[in-house]
Order: sequence, then C-alpha cells, then structure tokens
Amino acid sequence: MAEYMTEIQARKAICEIGDKMYTKGFVAANDGNISVKISEDMIIVTPTGVSKGGMSTNSLVKMKLDGTVIGLNKPSSEVKMHIRVYQLNKTVKSVVHAHPPASTAFAIARIPMDRPIMSESILTLGVVPVAEYALPGTKEVPDSIEPYVISHNAVLLANHGLLTWGDSITQAMYRMESAEQYGNIMINLKQIGEPKEFNCAQVNDLVLIRKNLGIQGGGVHPCENGPAEENQSSSEAELIMKITRQVLAQLT
Ligand SMILES: [Zn+2]
Repeated sequence: MAEYMTEIQARKAICEIGDKMYTKGFVAANDGNISVKISEDMIIVTPTGVSKGGMSTNSLVKMKLDGTVIGLNKPSSEVKMHIRVYQLNKTVKSVVHAHPPASTAFAIARIPMDRPIMSESILTLGVVPVAEYALPGTKEVPDSIEPYVISHNAVLLANHGLLTWGDSITQAMYRMESAEQYGNIMINLKQIGEPKEFNCAQVNDLVLIRKNLGIQGGGVHPCENGPAEENQSSSEAELIMKITRQVLAQLT
C-alpha cells in the first residue's frame, strides 16, 4: 500500500490537481472539492467557497476524520462524503469531487457508466454506478454513496456530479479523467451508432488483469452471456454494507 504524503506534499498536490480540474473545465466557479489523507485519522481538504483554480496551500483545511477542524479555515460543506469514504475504505488515500460536463450529464440522466466498451476504463476505473439523489451538504449525501465505497472506485451523484477515490491523489484524478473520457465517447457514439460491446469472456479477461495489477473495486460490468465473475462478491459487499447501516442505525 502506498505511503502517506506529508502535509506539505498533500497541500501542494491538492493545489496542482485543483488547477488541473479547473483548467479542464471539470468545475465552474467554486464547485468541487479535493482531499488527501495524511495519517490514520487526519486529512487535508479544500476550503468552502473557493475556486479550485489558483488555490494557495495555506488556504487548505487540516481536519480529523472525526470532523474536528485544526485551525481557522472552514472545510468544504461536502467534506462529509470524503470522510465517509475514508472511514469505510481503508485503502483510500484521496477523494476528488467535481462536475465534469459529460459525467454530470450521466448523473442527471441517472445512467450508470457500465457499458463494457473500452479496455482502459474497465482496467483502471470499472463500473460507475449512480447513487440515490441527496440534497448537497446534508447527511443523506454520505449515506447515498455508502453502498459503493468498497465495491467501486467512483460514483455518480444523481443530478449533481462525480465522486472518485484512489490510493493516491493522482489515481483519484485519473479515475475522474477516465470517467469523463468514457462519458464523452458515449455521447459521441450516440451520434454515429450503437457501440459493439465486449462479450463476457473479454470482460472477464480484463477483470483478471485488473485483479493481477492489484487494483481493487471496479464493480461488475453487465455482459451478454450472464454476470461477470465478480458479480457475487460485489453484490455481497453491497448487501453487507446495507445490513451494517441498519445495525448501526438501531444502535444509535
Ligand atoms: Zn458538487
């Protein structure tokens, strides 16, 4: 597993990824948020109400995973969904959220990114499901993404945008770029005809390579001859998560 970045490295990396996100048009105005985990219980996250382009390292917020903010800067109102990802998936070191136009179109149409059409997106990203709609900034947002945090690497937030995560800020951002690339290609395909999808055997070959590369998550691509081999484990993980939530709700 990758080492933690130091606080200084994390602050610099978040500003660099913020610039990239802004330049690529993945966010408008003050949209989006980025976080990096720097120890077992501490993250650096973007502040509320600030453009992701041209951020300064000292504007970023240091906070604990229990929600305690260190210092005076105020974190993004969406930090709750970042914290939920870190709490549930211990392999995650960075979470990125933006409104990339093609991905957000899928989020608004509530269409999952699950067509097996490109080897690269199957290998590095996998399926991107759509979480139930939740009002931004509320506790319902982290609840809505919870079923997908272990089994997938990204999720579309209904009528909102895209959330990706990974074992580094680079991997989380690459997953965002891959999802947006998939979205753009699917939209282009709408104009020229139906895509020819991989069959189940071809999907399973790619999933096997993904496993051998040590890439976790990715969900299950539907394919014409039945479910791909990860189907059971992924749906089991989602079921376990649902039951855990119900038990926790009864305890509190
Ligand atoms: Zn947003």
